[in-house]
Amino acid sequence: MPLRARTLLGPGPSNPYPEATVALGQPLLGHLDPEFLRILDETSERLRQVFGTANRRTLPLSATGSAGMEAAFVNTVGPGDVVVVAVNGLFGQRMVEVASRCGAEVVAVEHEWGRPVDADRVLAAHPAPKLIAAVHAETSTGVRSDLEPLAAGKGDALLLADCVTSLGGIPVRLDDWGVDLAYAGSQKCLGVAPGLAPFAINDRAWERRIEKPQSWYLDLGLLGGYAGEAAGSGRTYHHTAPTGMVVSLHAGLGRILEEGWTPYTPATPRPAGCCTRGSASWGWSCSPPRAPAARADDGGGAGRRRLGRRPQGAAGALRPRDRRGVGAYAATVWRIGLMGPNAAPDKVALVLAALKDVLG
Ligand code: PLP
Repeated sequence: MPLRARTLLGPGPSNPYPEATVALGQPLLGHLDPEFLRILDETSERLRQVFGTANRRTLPLSATGSAGMEAAFVNTVGPGDVVVVAVNGLFGQRMVEVASRCGAEVVAVEHEWGRPVDADRVLAAHPAPKLIAAVHAETSTGVRSDLEPLAAGKGDALLLADCVTSLGGIPVRLDDWGVDLAYAGSQKCLGVAPGLAPFAINDRAWERRIEKPQSWYLDLGLLGGYAGEAAGSGRTYHHTAPTGMVVSLHAGLGRILEEGWTPYTPATPRPAGCCTRGSASWGWSCSPPRAPAARADDGGGAGRRRLGRRPQGAAGALRPRDRRGVGAYAATVWRIGLMGPNAAPDKVALVLAALKDVLG
């Protein structure tokens, strides 16, 4: 069935890198084929580079970002364990839900949507939590939070970071910052289709993990025998890995690393910043300034309705349904994502042209 190509400028998925798409058409490999295992190992190594970690247990989980979240909680917390979650948007809320389902005693530190995490408040929320969790880049609001202050004050607790939107788009340095475990998703700044959840866990968190978590599929102890830890001949079957997706992620990561890590410097401004400045010139408020993905208040639904009536041309790139705000932002915010290959000047121009078309 032929499908019309889309320019995906919402909160995810983003358009994949061409290399990632081409890789999907390669001959299918079995999940224990030595050639596939070599690619899997290389993929884990490439993930270490973008995660900024030497953790040997770094692997792509066979599921989306939410499964990365589930894996993080289910392997580290059980009934009665205290978990402090910094909540400044939808995905912090989801963390609270997932941790609660593990039976944890959850202390949710609520923040106003659109604000970064206040490390002092989070660290003061409980004297001795087992785990502190925060979202690095809250996709629901576009806000990046600093993880270093949380790591500096975590004491004996483990620190978990959601890097679904940040990984591949803005610097992530788990080891330098002191983050114990983290997960991401393939479909945003990594520029690959949805379906994999890059995951990293250090020795400190590994030693404190739940021996027999209630999820079999996401049991990192069992998964370690297949991916991330055992090399070469030591592999054992755990599940049938989505080999085509891993090959695609391998290719997407190759492109990112080839282009050079942290491609946007003060000399080459971030696309989100260009977008913000461009639309501000017509009186639009785009905030927050440090967002990895710009967001824009539309001041009501009129522009959104006009966009809905123009599915073609520049405005078609901003299909309202894909980019609708969520939660507290549902009625007032459009989310614009410039991720993966779309973090490029021509896509900024497209976004600005589309906005001008309907609102200018
Ligand atoms: N965390 C964040 C910050 C996200 O943006 C998302 C998805 O948008 C998720 C978690 C969940 O990932 P997925 O939808 O791939 O399951």
